[in-house]
Formats: sequence, structure tokens, C-alpha cells
Amino acid sequence: MLTILGQSRIFLSACYPSNGFQPRAPPMYTVHAMSCLFCKIVEGQIPSTAVHQDELTYAFSDIDPKAPVHILIVPREHIGSLEEADASKSALLGHLMQTAAEIARNKGLGEGYRVVINTGKHGGQSVDHLHLHLLGGRQLTWPPG
Ligand code: 5GP
Ligand code: ZN
Repeated sequence: MLTILGQSRIFLSACYPSNGFQPRAPPMYTVHAMSCLFCKIVEGQIPSTAVHQDELTYAFSDIDPKAPVHILIVPREHIGSLEEADASKSALLGHLMQTAAEIARNKGLGEGYRVVINTGKHGGQSVDHLHLHLLGGRQLTWPPG
């Protein structure tokens, strides 16, 4: 069910079909997010392999892994990129990083791993919803391409 709130935000209820996680309160998404690939994955409209979920974040396996472990960690809230994450998102950004480290521990990446946030055109970002790549399970090279 959709209910317009204010001028530009849409309140989504009854939209948690497949991920199993039930937030205490339904999230709010911008109109833009209605067509966002990762918002659709968060909502369960597009299937994914869940790795971790909590009230603020959803983590799932990358469809085209670049390492033995390649997990994407995204905020449930639509944020287009790191560039769009202002100071009000500081706690959320910290939680995303902590989540990446927790998943790395759970995946046994004791020998190390990499967390990457591609941002914008030169950063190679292809999906415009903020996401952390957690890469590990092999020796990673530096510098990146
Ligand atoms: P970016 O290039 O924006 O930093 O990363 C986007 C990532 O999303 C890529 O690693 C790509 O493989 C992954 N990806 C794109 N579409 C899908 C999808 O439908 N499902 C999943 N699980 N990953 C996707
Ligand atoms: Zn989104």
C-alpha cells in the first residue's frame, strides 16, 4: 500500500516479502528509490543471497564476485552514493563499516580483506545506491585498476 507523505517521499508498508527481516517501523524511501536496483533487493522484489540483515543494513552476495568472498553491504535507506551521505549519516556509515568487519570475522577472513566504496564516475560506481564491497579469500593486489 502506498501513501504519499509530504511532497516527495512515499511511505511503503507491507513490502517485506522475502528477506524475512521485519524492521520495527517501515522504512521511508524517496520516489527515486522506487527504480533503484539495490532498493528492490533490500525490499525483496529482486532475489539475493542474504548474508546479514539488521534494522539499518542488508548484506548480500555480489552476483559477479571478484574474489572468493565478495559481499555487498547496503543501507536499507536509499542514499545515492558516499558523496550524498552528509553528516547526518555518520552513525549509519559507522554501522556499515562495523557490519563489514563483523561479516569478515564470520567469514573467517582472518588473513585480511578489503572494503571498497566506489563513488561516482571516476570511482567506477555502477549502481547508484551506496554500498560497501567486502572482498577477501585471496591475496588482493594494489593499486586497483
Ligand atoms: P559498483 O560497480 O557500483 O561499485 O558495484 C555494483 C556491484 O553490484 C557490482 O559488483 C555488481 O556485480 C553487483 N550487482 C549488480 N547487479 C546485481 C544484482 O542484481 N544482484 C547482485 N547480488 N549484485 C549485483
Ligand atoms: Zn536505492
